Amino acid sequence: MNRKEFIKTASVFLSGAFLGNFSSSVKVENFRQLRKGIGIYTNRGGTIGWLVRENAVIIVDSQFPDTAKKFYSNLKKMKANKISVLLNTHHHRDHTSGNTFLAKHSGMIVANENCVRLQKKRNVGTPLDKNKVTANVTFQKEWTFELEGEKVFAYHFGPAHTGGDSVVHFVNANVAHMGDLVFNRVYPFVNLKDEASLAGWIKFLDDAYNRFDNDTLFIYGHSFSPDNVFGGKGDLRFMRNYIEALLNYVKKGLRQGRGLKDLQKTNSVPGFEEMKPLWKTALQDNIKTAYEELSRG
Ligand SMILES: [Zn+2]
Repeated sequence: MNRKEFIKTASVFLSGAFLGNFSSSVKVENFRQLRKGIGIYTNRGGTIGWLVRENAVIIVDSQFPDTAKKFYSNLKKMKANKISVLLNTHHHRDHTSGNTFLAKHSGMIVANENCVRLQKKRNVGTPLDKNKVTANVTFQKEWTFELEGEKVFAYHFGPAHTGGDSVVHFVNANVAHMGDLVFNRVYPFVNLKDEASLAGWIKFLDDAYNRFDNDTLFIYGHSFSPDNVFGGKGDLRFMRNYIEALLNYVKKGLRQGRGLKDLQKTNSVPGFEEMKPLWKTALQDNIKTAYEELSRG
């Protein structure tokens, strides 16, 4: 798929009847309405989640300064101006760099305390890090907020994709933004230096799976197409099972005395042949991370 086709696929007509504030003829690139004034914005980097109601605007993640700016200018077409709350699901640059732009329009920025700590520690040395903005409201395990008939809950269940991941749940609409806890049907990005834990990731997804129900609509940080960055509980189970299979593949190899290079010589993790790579060495990188995590004990 070339870039032009990609953008065409990513663009949708938003229903004015449903959204209220959008004119029915407005085609907004990279925007997609999901449920009850809640939707997503794809473009570059982690999927942005948005809630736009009469007097309430809540945003989850901010991508990059340039895409955040585009996002915000389109958001204003929904007569959304001041952002009441911006939440960051974790510190990775493709989820937080846009804070630099959105902070000017946000009442507050909320994140898990480890997200802020890791953003300060890990997001250094690139042009994006120069004017970085971190959350001004932090929480340890749970944070809640109520606005215009919508209750928002943010949860942190321990280390997973990073040491500071949150799930953001719009309770009444029953939509949960999973951040990068779900790379839907694609090999996840994971680096132990971000205080990630594959074993923790399984536990986090189990906790999320148990907390939500069959009606919950989930938003994911990444997939191979904008049509696949949201879905149902089955995707959480699939992601969890992939990580378990990845760890089992490496565990078995270690028992057989196989080295990392040898383990990396494969096209898939058994049972997960449908996983796609977002970059060339994605699978080999996953195997390396599992190897390192299991080797450190
Ligand atoms: Zn990430």
